[in-house]
Amino acid sequence: MFTKKALEQADACRFCWMCRHVCPVGQVTGKESNNARAKGFLVSMDGRGAKLDETSMEIMYECALCKACTNDCATGYDPAIFILEARTKAVVDGLVPPNVQPVIDRAMAGCMYAEAEDTGLAAVIAKLPEKADVAVYLGPVARRKQPVIGMALLSLLEKAGVSYTALREEPQSGADLGDLVGYVEDVKKAAEKCAAALKETGAGTIVVLDENDAVFMKHQWAEWGIECGQIVTATSCIASLIKDGKLEPAAVELTACYHDPARIARDLEEWEPARAIIAAMGIELHELFHNKKGTKSTGGGMLHQTSPAIAAQVAEARMNDIRFAEESVVITSTPTAFDNLSSLGAEDVEVKDLFILLNDAC
Ligand code: SF4
Ligand code: SF4
Repeated sequence: MFTKKALEQADACRFCWMCRHVCPVGQVTGKESNNARAKGFLVSMDGRGAKLDETSMEIMYECALCKACTNDCATGYDPAIFILEARTKAVVDGLVPPNVQPVIDRAMAGCMYAEAEDTGLAAVIAKLPEKADVAVYLGPVARRKQPVIGMALLSLLEKAGVSYTALREEPQSGADLGDLVGYVEDVKKAAEKCAAALKETGAGTIVVLDENDAVFMKHQWAEWGIECGQIVTATSCIASLIKDGKLEPAAVELTACYHDPARIARDLEEWEPARAIIAAMGIELHELFHNKKGTKSTGGGMLHQTSPAIAAQVAEARMNDIRFAEESVVITSTPTAFDNLSSLGAEDVEVKDLFILLNDAC
């Protein structure tokens, strides 16, 4: 069932346990089984006859797919490859944990997040033209949980004089479903449907706001040969507009640290655009110890749906990094990171979104 590539990854380990020190899930649960090496060991044993069972599958879903382990592994080992394949196996073998199945059901129906009340975002989007040079892909967290971030991004494009639009009904990119069931045919079909809807806008550039979607659309869509214009992150798009003089923010009197979104920092190796935006506002930036490629996850999207208690602990651990640095303001640049950190309700640390800050300054 596992591909040769996945088994090679699982068998490549030197048992140095360095991944143990960086896994944000293992750090908060204290369970050895949550670390990448333990997951690899289970997969390796499956290839030798000790089959993955329900308990093993629970372990496979207790992972944010943040790739801190991949980033730190001396062998260049990538646990995400076999973790995703294990999740496919869980679905095929009927071993999906009970806390995960309802999330998969919602994702298969179109979105793993619960329906939102009217957020006002739909009314803003309804006024946009159907065709434009740039299409914005806001993603499910901005659509259903943090619409003000989506509205701020659209407002910035308006102020910069960009010809832009956004889909009235935004099909899922496949990123969340892929995290849940692996990169199977159903996920590819969802991605193709999304790409087709974006193509209808005639846009040559797709600006993607959230981290899972941006990485998935840039990497996995390309691997599947799904073409849909040039895909760029919202941070890199807005940084370019500032560089070109299309946005001229006023100075913002603020001292803050910045949280790098794990997938954008590690998978896309992109961290300068957000810093350029912060610098353009004259904000005094203090770097966190775990920054750029070495950032720590806030729990991502899927883990907060399947294992909310563990995910909240992961987000709290990231918040503690900010407290230990004695910072009182953290800037985030994706709706998922903002949602994960702000939902903790910390009284001593203020969470600010980069696009909202910039929109207020322009
Ligand atoms: S860091 Fe890499 S080689 Fe070391 S134990 Fe973890 S997976 Fe194995
Ligand atoms: S991807 Fe992240 S959460 Fe998953 S095992 Fe690796 S370090 Fe841990």
